[in-house]
Amino acid sequence: MKYVCPICGYVYDEKEGDPDNGIEPGTLWEDIPDDFECPLCGVAKDEFEEDTESEEEE
Ligand SMILES: [Zn+2]
Repeated sequence: MKYVCPICGYVYDEKEGDPDNGIEPGTLWEDIPDDFECPLCGVAKDEFEEDTESEEEE
């Protein structure tokens, strides 16, 4: 699953994680700390939206 910042469009992909911010690839959204913020604009984790338009099955 991917999660999208509603403000700047930053995409968090569970498969890729966010190594620059200490989140390893494969980390599920629910396992990310609640104080996670968008690395680009600082939006809170609970403001992110599920990216349901680009579901990928690999
Ligand atoms: Zn953002």
